[in-house]
Amino acid sequence: MRFDTVIIGGGLSGMTCGIRLAEAGQKCAIVSQGQSALHFSSGSFDLLGRLPDGQAVTDPLAGIAALEESDPQHPYALIGAAACAAYAAEAPELLRRAGIRVAGDCRRNHWRITPMGKAKATWLTIDGYLTAPEPGKLPFRKVCIVNVEGFLDFYPEFIAEEFSHHGIECRFGSINLPDLEQIRRNPSEMRSANVARVFDHDRNLKALAARIGEVVGDCEAVILPAIIGITRNDSLEVLRRHVAQPIYLLPTLPPSIPGIRAQQALQHRFRALGGEYFLGDSVLRADFDGPSVKRVYTANHGDIPFEADHFVLASGSFFSRGLVATPDRILEPVFGVDTQYVPDRAEWYTLRFFDRQNYQAFGVRTDRTLHALRQGAVIENLYCAGAGLAGFHPVQDGCGAGVSLLSALSVADRILNDKQS
Ligand SMILES: Cc1cc2nc3c(=O)[nH]c(=O)nc-3n(C[C@H](O)[C@H](O)[C@H](O)COP(=O)(O)OP(=O)(O)OC[C@H]3O[C@@H](n4cnc5c(N)ncnc54)[C@H](O)[C@@H]3O)c2cc1C
Repeated sequence: MRFDTVIIGGGLSGMTCGIRLAEAGQKCAIVSQGQSALHFSSGSFDLLGRLPDGQAVTDPLAGIAALEESDPQHPYALIGAAACAAYAAEAPELLRRAGIRVAGDCRRNHWRITPMGKAKATWLTIDGYLTAPEPGKLPFRKVCIVNVEGFLDFYPEFIAEEFSHHGIECRFGSINLPDLEQIRRNPSEMRSANVARVFDHDRNLKALAARIGEVVGDCEAVILPAIIGITRNDSLEVLRRHVAQPIYLLPTLPPSIPGIRAQQALQHRFRALGGEYFLGDSVLRADFDGPSVKRVYTANHGDIPFEADHFVLASGSFFSRGLVATPDRILEPVFGVDTQYVPDRAEWYTLRFFDRQNYQAFGVRTDRTLHALRQGAVIENLYCAGAGLAGFHPVQDGCGAGVSLLSALSVADRILNDKQS
């Protein structure tokens, strides 16, 4: 099989790169092993929440400009502050073209609310989710939190406790339905995706609207866990038609309904543009021809190679097995490209979970144009994008989705320019 570009990994970065290339007319394939970090996502996309010295960032583009000076190995510094600004303007448009409606401003972080009720700085949030311009500046003073009976991946009491610090009063309500009994029998079935399937039936969605009407009382707004709309787009609109007060969603613990929906929307967009998506297949190895990758082989296609002019490594970090740790080394298993890590294993992590962990910044070494390196030499047609890149702390610095989106767009541009020249 022959393509213009083959992308390894179909998470946020692989899909973004594939969509951008397919929009420009390239024949692209994405091979993706399985679930991506999107299945665990908050429904918000972070650009930059903190600088590496811990300083909070209000203007992510200004923060990226500062990083370019202070942290030259950070992927944003490699891409360059000016290019980052251009891609940060382009990314939400690409998401919207895929049907993912997001709001946010790359010049000013807003605040999303976590499943525990904490406020966290972010860049883009999917429509329908509760956000605030400042922590505690929520659009209500009294709110009704409605949960599903027996659903343990959402914490109304913690949320109420957090909100009380900002003078917001919470009332609780819950719903039970005959169709929920089926999944309630087994606690491991009582997860957001299964609950959402129940509420995708019209009669259950209407029952939820009716229940909200019964419990909302004099509250100004309603909060629901993200347990609606896994197979349909209009669930929140239907509820809003039946309930007078505004309704806001909050993310739950995984699986993430907004993330699953985003993943599905990106896949759909890529395929609609003519892209070929090989889900459930793994790229195992590659053949090289001097400084270039010639072809890759996958688990499902055996001896049938995938050949291309360009390859993009978007296989993620440890979480997605794009990187693998042995007792003394960090490996990239497909191409065996160079990785950046601290040699002394004792320095990989500290036992204090919330500390800044060194291993989080381990990843694939690239040159300034995001070409991967092998034994110190540039591989001319292999780029790396996304969570597998070295040199950044996605969680601590709140830049996970931003690095994935911006590096994917940067790589796509470089491939399109390579093609032209
Ligand atoms: C649990 C979790 C939650 C997160 N939540 C957020 C959030 O809410 N907001 C935010 O801004 N950031 C979040 N992040 C940061 C996250 O890394 C990025 O937001 C982003 O989604 C990562 O996308 P990616 O495509 O770079 O990598 P991934 O999402 O990891 O995707 C890599 C893909 O490559 C596939 N793959 C791996 N090896 C192979 C192979 N050999 N062959 C074929 N396919 C392969 C994997 O199966 C996977 O589908 C989160 C990260 C994690 C781990």
